[in-house]
Parts: sequence; structure tokens; C-alpha cells
Amino acid sequence: MQPTPTPPALLLDVDGPLNPFANRWRRRLRWRPRGYTAHRCKPDDWIARHAPLPEEEVAPLRVWLNPAHGPQLTALPYDLVWATTWMHGANKHIGPVIGLPHLPVIEWGELFKPGPDGAHWKVPQIVAWARGRPFAWVDDGITAHDQRYVAAHHDGPALLHWVDPARGLRAPDFAVLREWAAKQAR
Ligand SMILES: [Mg+2]
Repeated sequence: MQPTPTPPALLLDVDGPLNPFANRWRRRLRWRPRGYTAHRCKPDDWIARHAPLPEEEVAPLRVWLNPAHGPQLTALPYDLVWATTWMHGANKHIGPVIGLPHLPVIEWGELFKPGPDGAHWKVPQIVAWARGRPFAWVDDGITAHDQRYVAAHHDGPALLHWVDPARGLRAPDFAVLREWAAKQAR
């Protein structure tokens, strides 16, 4: 019997793909993205940002989350991995709300340190983490600079898929991910 090939990794950003935060003007109109519910939490870095205010006085952060995303993501032929500034907080505050199991986390060495040649700060660390393993990365911060960086430095297949931060992950995004994984499996 052939050994089952390792599925590609799916590197997940939170703000943008799962939490469509970029809808400020609509917020004033009490607009709510369809399928999403407001969820309030106090991640560690959010509390730290409000220092020296004690935790109980920090107003919670509101995120929009879509409970359909968990089952849609786990149904994909990928190993899911958090690639977000939420880091371990994603397993605590995001995953359980949308029905994702506890996932591995990419632990950033340094946050927001610009990558070379205009690349996203996450990209060099993602490539180092992947070590040639096929991966798809969904993020609202992806640009052509990242495509170039990955093409030059990642020794394996990769899909960099931009997601609109005003809309979050939608059916066409899932279709792209499914198609790409199917192509890798061939
Ligand atoms: Mg983002």
C-alpha cells in the first residue's frame, strides 16, 4: 500500500479571513456581516495594549465570527495551522467559537518587522516554518511582493490567497483552496 501523502498545511490568519473587521462605515449603520455573530473577548495582547488599566476595566475586543467557517475549514484536505498575531490566543478565543479543534500555532519571533523587498512581515517566518512543505496561506495582507518572496525562497508548492477583510472567507475562497489541494494530490 502506498503511504498516505502528508496534506499541505493551511496557514490561517484571523483578522480579515475569519473576522471581517474592515467594515467600519457599515458598523455605524448597525450592519452585521451575514452569517457572523459578534463575539467579545480579552486576548492577552489586547489587555497588554491597555496597560496600566487592570484587566477588569479593559473593554472587550469585538470580533465577528462565522460558525460555518469551522466545519468548512476542517472539511478541507489540509492540516490547519494558525498564522496570526493572535498566536495561542486563537486556540482560546477563536477556534472554539467556530468549531475548530486545537491547532498548531506559528510562533512569530518578531511581530510587524517588515520583510525584505516589501514582503509581509510574516512571510520570511512562514517560509522558515514550512521548510519546503507545501502550504496555502490565507491572509488579507498578501501582496505581489509576497508572491515573489515565496517563489524565490520556498522550495515547494505554495498558494498565497488574499482574502477581502471586509468580507472574510467565502465560498469562492474555499473553492480555490480545494482546487489547489486537489492539484497537489495528483
Ligand atoms: Mg489579517
